[in-house]
Amino acid sequence: MLDSLVELVRGKRIVALTGAGISTESGIPDFRGPKGVWTRNPAAEKQSTIQHYLADPEVRRAAWRSRLDSATWTAEPNRGHKALVALEKRGKLHALITQNIDELHQIAGNSIAKTIEVHGTMRRVMCWSCGARSPMEDALARVRAGEADPPCRLCGGILKSDTISFGQALVPAVIDRAMEAAAEADLLLAIGSTLQVYPAAGVVPQAKENGARIVILNDQPTPFDPIADAVLRGAIGDVLPRLCAA
Ligand SMILES: [Zn+2]
Repeated sequence: MLDSLVELVRGKRIVALTGAGISTESGIPDFRGPKGVWTRNPAAEKQSTIQHYLADPEVRRAAWRSRLDSATWTAEPNRGHKALVALEKRGKLHALITQNIDELHQIAGNSIAKTIEVHGTMRRVMCWSCGARSPMEDALARVRAGEADPPCRLCGGILKSDTISFGQALVPAVIDRAMEAAAEADLLLAIGSTLQVYPAAGVVPQAKENGARIVILNDQPTPFDPIADAVLRGAIGDVLPRLCAA
């Protein structure tokens, strides 16, 4: 099975789409899985909903407390991330579209030019009023120093992580870039994503309609399994390095 897949990968223009599943092996919990953040603590979902976040200071204080404790700050890229770096080094990675907000792809060594973060990054904050961006670690230092809900230093506005919350519009230019890359792919590798969140999941049919082969690597079934050329269920850290070594 893997041998014929390795053949599929050979000599192709590859676009990877990654979701939370590639980062769980780095110790970052997903959201809706059995050990997911929202499964264990449904109240945490409110912190990720823009209306609640903007309206309720207590929701923001709770959000800052949980940001302080995020597993992301100590997480390191795993073998799955490194396999995609190897693919880029060999000139085969056309684009890396990620739903993840942890920047582990860039830390592993994928170039910023190839990486398309459709849901933003939690390593930066943005001001809801003036749009100014600044490093998350500066804001967290203020929280540690006693500011429970630090305001924007420029305008006093509400700060949030520079990610796409529920109820918040995606960045059209970023989505356009992802869709364009998907249309140019010879092979789309969908890795660790349940492919249920749009518009990110839409890159799969977009690639398919433009003639790409589709390989899905995820531990749960996805809605696009029926149109995939191959569906793999193994651990990403085991399967992806072998697949990318072609
Ligand atoms: Zn501001």
